[in-house]
Amino acid sequence: MFESEFVGVEDAAVVAAIADLTRAEAASAARRLAAIAELTRRRVLDDDERARWACDWWDCAAAAVAAAMNISGRRASGQMRIAVALRDHLPAVAAMFARGEVSARVVGAITWRTQFITEASVWAQIDQAIAKRAGRWGPLGEDKLVAAVDALVLEFDESAVIVAKAVARARDFVVGDLEDENGTTSVWGRLSAADAAVLKKKIAAMVATVCERDPRTAGERRAAAVGAWSQGNDHLPCACESPSCPARANHPAPKSSVVVNVYTDQATVDNVQRSAAQAAPSESSAPSAPVSAGTALLSGTEVMPTPLLAELLRDGAKLRPLCTPAEEPEPGYRPSSKLARFIRARDLTCRFPGCTASAEFCDIDHVIPYPLGSTHPSNLVCLCRKHHLLKTFWTGDWELRLRPDGAAVWTSPTGHTYTTYPGSRAYFPDWDTNTGDLPPPLKPQTFDTDRAVMMPRRKRTRTQDREARIKAQRAQNNSDPPPF
Ligand SMILES: [Zn+2]
Ligand SMILES: [Zn+2]
Repeated sequence: MFESEFVGVEDAAVVAAIADLTRAEAASAARRLAAIAELTRRRVLDDDERARWACDWWDCAAAAVAAAMNISGRRASGQMRIAVALRDHLPAVAAMFARGEVSARVVGAITWRTQFITEASVWAQIDQAIAKRAGRWGPLGEDKLVAAVDALVLEFDESAVIVAKAVARARDFVVGDLEDENGTTSVWGRLSAADAAVLKKKIAAMVATVCERDPRTAGERRAAAVGAWSQGNDHLPCACESPSCPARANHPAPKSSVVVNVYTDQATVDNVQRSAAQAAPSESSAPSAPVSAGTALLSGTEVMPTPLLAELLRDGAKLRPLCTPAEEPEPGYRPSSKLARFIRARDLTCRFPGCTASAEFCDIDHVIPYPLGSTHPSNLVCLCRKHHLLKTFWTGDWELRLRPDGAAVWTSPTGHTYTTYPGSRAYFPDWDTNTGDLPPPLKPQTFDTDRAVMMPRRKRTRTQDREARIKAQRAQNNSDPPPF
């Protein structure tokens, strides 16, 4: 631990430092947003053909902000929205923020809740009104903060209030949430009453197939039943360790399409699979032993805590060792499934700075376009569609070089460089992902691949989209006044 600069400082000075630094933090955030607003003004052009590109000026600027702040593109875009609102519409609030009198959190709520205001005169009034009060909003929790801003929006421009969507009555089914913890994923849904009744019966029937010694709670068993069912099973594999489990004797081996990548050799994997298949309780500690020290990757991209491995294996999952591919380039444009698996396992996410898009849903990009650049691991990276388009069409702005060890070096339009490392490095530090120097191109004269790729186009520019959204929200508020 390093020595704190406040050791030996008097209490009063320590408390004063807390207050000063809180103000400094806010003031510094305000300056950063002013810089972001300026970059946005310079780099986001509306009267240009690229405003209709799927990866448009805004995305290109957001990439620069994301890389500079080391945050995701989505958050960078949010910072740009806040920055532009402060500069264009809320100068009094921006001035308070710059003096450190209001926090970034409060400013975020203010800019979010006022986004549907359209008239300059209303902006001017509400800016003054908020500036008078916002100094007292710091202690408010999220709901009360939003209510405080909304009360002023309602006073000056009833049509601009953001009305919470009524709880969905329609059917819906959602898997996954931002706040999910490693190893589990939340699922939420609303089914037709008839379907729900069938589902309930199905789950109950599956849960009933385990023996009475199954150690799981009723809730855990229901969750496992849904999982086993979605893998195509009609029974829930029993989790008891008994060699004489009647449930295990009565049911076929469970089916599973889960593949777990582990960093180990093939012989170990074979061993683990064999002992898992025998599933004799005296050997039950054997299956997880070789991998218990490491980390496992679910479907090649999701990191999973190893205690869940034994359960996955019991339920029929397959293990696959991670291996480094051959040094010879592949002949075709499309990488073989083995090579693609390596690239996804090496990268884990999109390789643009700050991007967290899962490799599973990424494109595999030839860093140097094929066939000038070959289909070789030292020339292939995972990029999400947005950053794939950025690299392909904003050439001259964003440049990418890939090193043989998988490090990706990006150069931004302003000449800054950012290096991202393969995501697997954090989980499999011993795994050598060095794939050697890129072999020289075979036919450098045939250079025409990425030319054929078209940038998808927007029907309306981002600005037109936004204006339409504001208009629609205001129209809805006018026909259906806020319920308070
Ligand atoms: Zn049992
Ligand atoms: Zn990305």
